[in-house]
Amino acid sequence: NEPLATVDPEIAEVLENELNRQREYLEMIASENFVPTAVLEAAGSVLTNKYAEGYPGRRYYGGCEYVDVAESLAIERAKSLFGAEYANVQPHSGATANAAVMHAIARPGDTLLGLSLDHGGHLTHGMKINFSGRLYNIVAYGVNDETSRVDMNEVRALALEHKPKVIVAGWSAYPRQLDFEAFRAIADEVGAYLWVDMAHFAGLVAAGLHPNPVPHAHVVSSTVHKTIGGPRSGFILTNDADVAKKLNSAVFPGQQGGPLMHVIAAKATAFKLAASDEFKERQERTLRGATILADRLQADDVKQAGIAVRSNGTDVHLVLVDLRDAEIDGKQAEDVLHEVGITVNRNAVPNDPRPPMVTSGLRIGTPALATRGFADEEFTEVSDVIALALLPNADLPALRERVRKLADAFPLYPTLGA
Ligand code: PLP
Repeated sequence: NEPLATVDPEIAEVLENELNRQREYLEMIASENFVPTAVLEAAGSVLTNKYAEGYPGRRYYGGCEYVDVAESLAIERAKSLFGAEYANVQPHSGATANAAVMHAIARPGDTLLGLSLDHGGHLTHGMKINFSGRLYNIVAYGVNDETSRVDMNEVRALALEHKPKVIVAGWSAYPRQLDFEAFRAIADEVGAYLWVDMAHFAGLVAAGLHPNPVPHAHVVSSTVHKTIGGPRSGFILTNDADVAKKLNSAVFPGQQGGPLMHVIAAKATAFKLAASDEFKERQERTLRGATILADRLQADDVKQAGIAVRSNGTDVHLVLVDLRDAEIDGKQAEDVLHEVGITVNRNAVPNDPRPPMVTSGLRIGTPALATRGFADEEFTEVSDVIALALLPNADLPALRERVRKLADAFPLYPTLGA
């Protein structure tokens, strides 16, 4: 029982370096966040030792009396947070949650209608070499190039033409809200299941700042580690008893073996925290931060460099930057922001003329900085730094200094590390 630094100094060094990286850089990858130390404590606990195949009260292993309590708490809290009748909190990740959803409500060869990957959809919604693209017949809708929004007339036309078994509404890179009611009407018209993947915006939903898909969808999947700010993992909700039964057997034994009980305990804690006023206030700062960023990136100096904001704004936690008419490409933009101390990811935009490893877009999100404590003033400052860094002949050392000041003002995990 020696400490990690003694047993495995190489890995201890990785942990230390990563902690310092998270402290020194401003994290603006839209899908990332910082978990509270209470969640770290649960995720790094002795619950990792326990096998618990099955569900609370119906396990295939002895000694599950305490992990049953943890999983039941996670289930009850997830249901209450999102107003759902049933919850499965066992998926190891968002992708496995999605695989279980499809396993539950479709058969290989059935048709899935989802948002295309290069228009902001997720790999699990039909990418060719993903399980979704290999097992199911994929039909994709896109976003309108002028408005950058999903066109419900296109979704309906495709649904009527292809009669999908499942319609998925959800995204990884889309700056607006989807109309769940309209999706459900189309699903009902063609006899499809409506599956909403709220992985990105679940925290906004929990805070009441984004429409809740649960009343409209047959099934809702999510991650816990994006806007919710919990441990890396997934969960699934439904109000339909029949679908709930199918989901439970699709997750176990359909797809997974032993659930990660340490992660499930950490999910329970994250869901508890997500019901607080403090959480809601953080999500409000997240949204305001994204609006401040979208506004700054539409100022004249940025526009003159050929840089645009997709859909001219945002109503979620991220901004999509369009560099198709700019000299700077997605890779260069990601690199220059890294140089000034801001972490983002490049992202293809629809009809991107540049290759996927380069791209003509950036996805910039505000959840992690809101968790770190940023409010309007700091988001205004970091937005200005981003705007200036993307312009030709930027004074990068001066911008790096401004980022350093912001990072120093909001110490991250002050009780952790050496
Ligand atoms: N669904 C959506 C919409 C996502 O954006 C993501 C992750 O980026 C996932 C699912 C998959 O989550 P994970 O990375 O935990 O498998």
